[in-house]
Amino acid sequence: MTRIFTTRSESETAAVGRELGLTLDADSMVLLYGDLGAGKTAFVRGLAEGLGARADDVSSPTFTLIQEYRGGRLPLQHVDLYRLDDPREVDDLGLDELGSGGVLAIEWAEKLPGSGAEAINVRITLGDGDARTIEISR
Ligand code: ADP
Ligand code: MG
Repeated sequence: MTRIFTTRSESETAAVGRELGLTLDADSMVLLYGDLGAGKTAFVRGLAEGLGARADDVSSPTFTLIQEYRGGRLPLQHVDLYRLDDPREVDDLGLDELGSGGVLAIEWAEKLPGSGAEAINVRITLGDGDARTIEISR
């Protein structure tokens, strides 16, 4: 099933993430695709809110690769693969264990070697100005 949303601000994108966060089960994997500045991190901020984790706990993990957020309905692991150059480094991250029991959200999921057939795929496309199109397939 694919749902498509159009948003016109960062908070609207976060709100779409929040709605998704309300519906996620343990061991969910959310793969995010989209150019730099598309709003992937904003979406994950909303996702954390939907899970009950404090929004200000979710800063951009671009420099740290993995951030963990507890205190919500389910723990959230937020991974940003932007700085990953070699796909073989993905193995070193141990993503399989990371997600267990919680929610795993991965920015720049195109850098993952596998296809993520079991995952929820979130593709964000930049439009004119602040417009974004968010396509959620699950
Ligand atoms: P990414 O993680 O995809 O690189 P970020 O979420 O870090 O993107 O940043 C998105 C940027 O775009 C922010 O500066 C935000 O304020 C801006 N922005 C403008 N319009 C939107 C929108 N509709 N949705 C999300 N972000 C938006
Ligand atoms: Mg980001």
